[in-house]
Amino acid sequence: MKKYCYWCGSPVKDKYCENCGTDVDPPQDVYFLDEECGECNARLPRWAYYCTECGYKFTLYDPTDSGTKARYNKSLRSGLIFWSAIFILIAVIVPIASETIAFKHTLPVAAVLLIILWGITLTRTERGHFIDGTVTELFTRDEIHRERSLSETTITGRPVYYEVPVTVYCTRIRWDNGKEEVLEKDCNAADHIQLAVGDRMRYFTARRKYQKLMSGRI
Ligand SMILES: [Zn+2]
Ligand SMILES: [Zn+2]
Repeated sequence: MKKYCYWCGSPVKDKYCENCGTDVDPPQDVYFLDEECGECNARLPRWAYYCTECGYKFTLYDPTDSGTKARYNKSLRSGLIFWSAIFILIAVIVPIASETIAFKHTLPVAAVLLIILWGITLTRTERGHFIDGTVTELFTRDEIHRERSLSETTITGRPVYYEVPVTVYCTRIRWDNGKEEVLEKDCNAADHIQLAVGDRMRYFTARRKYQKLMSGRI
């Protein structure tokens, strides 16, 4: 049994928080981002504000804070330098070590990879931007997906496909700039467990992450 509510931080004795009504022991669906406490080893539900085991209160990511911004961009730059060096090294070493692969093959590939890498880094650079919005609708859609069997083939060696019924969990958000977005998750009810119509959401542009807002907390 969990000790604290991950949403409001109150001590809990039951499956539901007495203070805010949150299901403090939700299905595994909401743990899919592999978030951990850091103070202890507890795995946390997505968007947790408090650790369910030690009660630690998390400082939320604030993209407008200059320290946060600098730290984030610094780690982004380190990654960029590391991977750039790896790509260049491979592009140089492979032709030297191999008799069949020449520089004219590896250098263009490395150049393309570097351009993609630098492009991604540019779009992921934290400039302090975020946008808030409101959840306006939760709905599901049933789809039939064609999935290829991993173990079976036909007698002539052709792939076998199965039709698999899939429930898509959709969450409509109207952002404060008037734009709408529908978040979709195949066979994963996480958003429907954690969100309700009227909830306020924040989208961090650089990190491409969502956070459910608690009024007065962010
Ligand atoms: Zn609570
Ligand atoms: Zn903890």
